[in-house]
Amino acid sequence: MGDRLSTAKRAGRHRVVRADGRPAEVEDLQVLIADLLAMLGEQPRRNGLLKTPERVAKALRFMTQGYQQDIERLLNGALFPIDYDEMVIVKDIDFFSLCEHHLLPFFGKCHVGYIPNKKVVGLSKIPRVVDAFSRRLQVQERLTVQIAETLQSKLNAHGVGVVIEARHLCMMMRGVEKQNTIAVTSSMLGVFRSQQQTRDEFLKLIRRGSVGDPD
Ligand code: ZN
Repeated sequence: MGDRLSTAKRAGRHRVVRADGRPAEVEDLQVLIADLLAMLGEQPRRNGLLKTPERVAKALRFMTQGYQQDIERLLNGALFPIDYDEMVIVKDIDFFSLCEHHLLPFFGKCHVGYIPNKKVVGLSKIPRVVDAFSRRLQVQERLTVQIAETLQSKLNAHGVGVVIEARHLCMMMRGVEKQNTIAVTSSMLGVFRSQQQTRDEFLKLIRRGSVGDPD
């Protein structure tokens, strides 16, 4: 009981939720992680764990930095007018996210395609958009839709397709304990939804081997 009280007091002294809605400082997070270690039955002051709260706090901040990223700013200045209305595909984009149900990683590959409408976006910006949405607490379905809808609205494209293939540690390490299961989600907008031929072309192109792969 005494321990519990001191934990509550400490959490109260460090303002965990800030009035301006910004995330807590790393120092505040550290206090919570140290408490968590103790609650798991560990001794946070033993040698191997001394720096763990700080490391975990920093890692968590890194893995959730998407909340601070301004997608508007990321894309503005990277849009270029062009007379090209064939499909653009950026595939096999590695991503890492945290499932919002267990705070465990899910990770895999994201494939993005779009058909430009008088403008394109710098190719390197597409993985940046994927990072901005994946470095948050997520569910795979919402991540897929957010990437697709953002590109659709910022590019005013004729259509956007996004496919995500991911492994979820919460399925692998616990729960159903299925180690080889891959969850696939897709979001098809505009012509990717209305024209089967466009959708099929996209799906065929993302399934082809990568450049440099043996045939
Ligand atoms: Zn989960």
